[in-house]
Amino acid sequence: MTIHLLNCFTCNARLGDLKTGMACLLVETDQGLVLVDTGLGLEDYANPSGFTQFFRVITEMPFDPNEAAANRIKKLGYQPEDVKHILLTHMHFDHISGLPDFPHAKVHVHKCEYESFTDGKILHWDEYAYIPRYIAHQPEFILYDRIDSRWYDFDAIRLPFSPEMYYIPLFGHSRGHCGLAIKTSTGWFFHAADAGAVYNDETPKWLIKMVLGPHDARLRAFMKSHPEVLVSNSHMYPEFFEQHRAIV
Ligand SMILES: [Zn+2]
Repeated sequence: MTIHLLNCFTCNARLGDLKTGMACLLVETDQGLVLVDTGLGLEDYANPSGFTQFFRVITEMPFDPNEAAANRIKKLGYQPEDVKHILLTHMHFDHISGLPDFPHAKVHVHKCEYESFTDGKILHWDEYAYIPRYIAHQPEFILYDRIDSRWYDFDAIRLPFSPEMYYIPLFGHSRGHCGLAIKTSTGWFFHAADAGAVYNDETPKWLIKMVLGPHDARLRAFMKSHPEVLVSNSHMYPEFFEQHRAIV
């Protein structure tokens, strides 16, 4: 079992020196290759959505198609068809833009997130980041909403993959946002997606609360009491990708 850590969307602040890559995971499982989130897809590079254009104005992006998950995966010697399942932490544009590059993959997501994306209502400003065209190819969705497990002291939803993995509901950044815990040969990898900014002490608390939701303090406390668990967010500093290319 290997988790390949791929940066599928570099996005840097225009002011200051906050630089981030976006952590997408390619997980080798007994059920085939599982991709966790997609970053920007190939079509967005050729014909960017309005939201992507907007982000190109407010942030600094290299906008390099080599970062697309489909190209990252080919570099590892796989083909996009080898990806059988895509696990979404949530459905904001930067996490799902690449779905059309894997048209045959089953797409797993929390039911609240799927409903939030598809109900056509904007209940919170973050929902402007839901771009319908990324699911226009009508992938098969597999939805989850029943808490059936505990992972450490978090509510958890067991996912049908080996190695053992769980959705960890961390709602707030979006209506159905989930982190993901994956068992490794040495312990656990906890990908808390957009629920915090745990590797950055510069982000102001009010901004974390406003954009990332209410879980950052709990995640930091968890990291302190469980240093044996590798914890990440989706948008990580560039060196993180060098330090953790492949987690076994
Ligand atoms: Zn997000």
